[in-house]
Amino acid sequence: MTDIDHIVRKIAADMAQEQDRGRVADYIPGLACVDPNQFGIAVITADGTIHVAGDGDTLFSIQSISKVFALTIALGKVGDALWHRVGREPSGSAFNSIVQLEQEHGIPRNPFINAGAIVVSDVVLSGHRPREAIGEILRFLRQLAHDDTIFIDDDVARGEQDTGFRNAALVNYMRAFGNIHNPVEEVLGVYFHQCAIAMNCRQLAAAGRFLMMHGRDPVTGHSIVPPTRAKRINALMMMCGHYDGSGEFAFRVGMPGKSGVGGGILTVVPGVASIAVWSPGLNERGNSKIGSLALERLAAATGWSVFNSRG
Ligand code: GLN
Repeated sequence: MTDIDHIVRKIAADMAQEQDRGRVADYIPGLACVDPNQFGIAVITADGTIHVAGDGDTLFSIQSISKVFALTIALGKVGDALWHRVGREPSGSAFNSIVQLEQEHGIPRNPFINAGAIVVSDVVLSGHRPREAIGEILRFLRQLAHDDTIFIDDDVARGEQDTGFRNAALVNYMRAFGNIHNPVEEVLGVYFHQCAIAMNCRQLAAAGRFLMMHGRDPVTGHSIVPPTRAKRINALMMMCGHYDGSGEFAFRVGMPGKSGVGGGILTVVPGVASIAVWSPGLNERGNSKIGSLALERLAAATGWSVFNSRG
C-alpha cells in the first residue's frame, strides 16, 4: 500500500466516525432523500494512479460542480469575450443571491455563482437547440472521464425545474439588462440539466485531470484547453469555487476547488493530483461539511497546496 493509499483510507475511516455531518440539501426530493452518513473520496495523481475509498463509487448529483465544465465549454466557444458578460471577482454572497446583480447592472460577479453560471449556460446554448447544448455538456464530461455511463438524473432535473424560482428570477433579471440572449426557459433548461448530472468520485476526479495536467488529457495526451486557460479556471475555482466560503476553503485547504449542493467537491493540485470528495451534509454556506474536512486532512497529510512549494 502506498502512502497516498494509506492516507486516503485513513481519511475515509475517520470521516465515517464524524458526528456533526451538516444538513443535506432539501429543496428537492432527489437530494433530500440522500443518506448523510456517506462519504467518498477519489484521488488521481499525475502518474495516473487512482486511490478510491469509502463511497467513492456511489453516484451523487454534481450540481454546481458542473459550472466548471460548462465554463470550459463556453470559453472554448467565445474566449475572452465571455468576460464582458461575467466578472471574475469573488462575490462574498450566497450562491443564489440576487442583490449584487442590481448594483452591477446584470453582470454577475463570477461564473460560479448561479447568476454567472446561468450566463455561461446561455453562451453554451447559443446556436443550438437546448437538447444539443445539454448533450454537449454531458458528452464533454464523458470524454474527460473516459466513461460513457455518465448520465443526467431526470428526477433531479425535474425537481430543479419545479422549485427553481430564484434561478428563474435571476435569469429574467439578467435578461432585462440584455445579458441573456436566448429564451429564459431554454437557458434554465440547460442549467437545470447540467446540475442534474450524476457522477461518482472516481468519475469526477477523472474529469478534473485536465485541470491538474495544464489543460491536457493525460490518457490521450490531447489538449483540452491551452495551459493558460487551465491556470485561469483554477484561479477562478480558488477565488470563487465555494461562494461566500471561498476564503475559508483557501485558508483551510489551499487548493482550487468547486463545490455543489449535492455534497461533492472537485479540487486540483496542478501537476500533482485531481481529487473528488463527496458527503451530502452541507455547512451554512452550502458546501459539503465532511468533504471540506476531509480535504483539509488530505492537505495536511500530503503537504499538497498551491501555497506550498512542496505542492
Ligand atoms: N441546482 C442548484 C441551484 O441552482 C445548484 C446550486 C449549488 O450546487 N450550489 O440552486
